[in-house]
Amino acid sequence: MQWLITLVFLILGIHVTLQSPDGWGYTDKHGPKTWEGICQLGTRQSPIDIVDDDTLEADLGPLEFIKYDHLYNATVTNNGHTIQVALKGQPLLSGGGLETNYQLDQMHFHWEAEHTINGYRDPLELHLVHYNKKYNNFTTALKHENSISVVAVLFEKSEVDNKHLQPIIDAAKQVSNWELKSKIDIDVQGTVLPTLFIPADRTMYYRYDGSLTTPTCQEIVTWFIMTEKLPVSVSQLHVLRNIKNNEGPVTSNFRPTQNRYHRKVYHHLQGYISSQQKILSNSVYIILIVFSNILVFL
Ligand SMILES: [Zn+2]
Repeated sequence: MQWLITLVFLILGIHVTLQSPDGWGYTDKHGPKTWEGICQLGTRQSPIDIVDDDTLEADLGPLEFIKYDHLYNATVTNNGHTIQVALKGQPLLSGGGLETNYQLDQMHFHWEAEHTINGYRDPLELHLVHYNKKYNNFTTALKHENSISVVAVLFEKSEVDNKHLQPIIDAAKQVSNWELKSKIDIDVQGTVLPTLFIPADRTMYYRYDGSLTTPTCQEIVTWFIMTEKLPVSVSQLHVLRNIKNNEGPVTSNFRPTQNRYHRKVYHHLQGYISSQQKILSNSVYIILIVFSNILVFL
């Protein structure tokens, strides 16, 4: 099919100059400084630098990842901006103070990380993008307030490969060249187990209100940044940095951090444990009262 398209273009003498995919990117020409509208004018834009001293501890409960422990078929796509993974199934996100369930739409990577912690930038960040289940799909959800919830997982450099990431990395290798639109299906039954991309500790995370980090930057996202990090090797990062679009390799695809303004960042640190402790300490208190009453009667 590709040869046929090429032949038609040759016969018609059409010189095709492809624009940056969707007209935006990360190079000087199409980069974040040129993104328009709310991307420049907004007051709750993402990503941000998270400063531990400025966070508020809150008892929001752990994040719950429902049906994340199932095996899924997946489609891995080079969309010219990133490697995107869409599952053929419907894992859900809840907890963390969310009022309802959010359905996973897709996950994708940013190299280097978009969110920084106390000014430190990790080499990789995974975004698991969910939309409020009451909407039919991601596109409909985009038109509504606080309809998107993204879980961000940070990766730190490791000496050895992260074997859980490898099926995605292998697929990414196969779609690294950009030919109009490059796409590959991982069409093996039960290839992707999404729970492997979430850190084991789901009680520790930062939460804040922000935006999509790519145009059109809608300010409708509840962000969760997991505190625990996962490993990624240099050779795995190398594969991602070689993903190409019509402008060449996408050597990096992160948006710089944005002004936090007056937004609060919550850090769910020990609330879950403290609820348990509260129950325990209440029990001890009741036993003491009962015991002291018995003593009075004696
Ligand atoms: Zn993203």
